[in-house]
Amino acid sequence: MAYDFRMNDTTPPCPECSGTYAYEMGALLVCPECGHEWSPGPSEASAGESGESGEKVVKDAVGNVLRDGDTVTVIKALKVKGSPSGIKAGTKVRNIKLVDGVDGHDIDCRIEGFGNMQLKSAVVKKA
Ligand SMILES: [Zn+2]
Repeated sequence: MAYDFRMNDTTPPCPECSGTYAYEMGALLVCPECGHEWSPGPSEASAGESGESGEKVVKDAVGNVLRDGDTVTVIKALKVKGSPSGIKAGTKVRNIKLVDGVDGHDIDCRIEGFGNMQLKSAVVKKA
């Protein structure tokens, strides 16, 4: 049985030394011959499996992907303008909405006693 060399068609030769043994490491290609690492670029333009382009993924403090309507828990006390107590750690926030807010505030929500607020996803954990 002959080897099917076309198996490696998707791996382009090394741009540094033209070596053909490059392998994928995450999003990069690595050449074992000269050690060069490079990004394969948009050669997978036809692939439709990476989800809708432009869609932003918002993750909580521990890396859970957040979605509209999720319930999250605030993991650290937050100061709120005009409130002496602020938001306490452990406060539950229901029905969040992901937004492209200013200054990294990517969650729009309503917190009892505070009203509508915007939070950073880094200070919450999916409940
Ligand atoms: Zn190389």
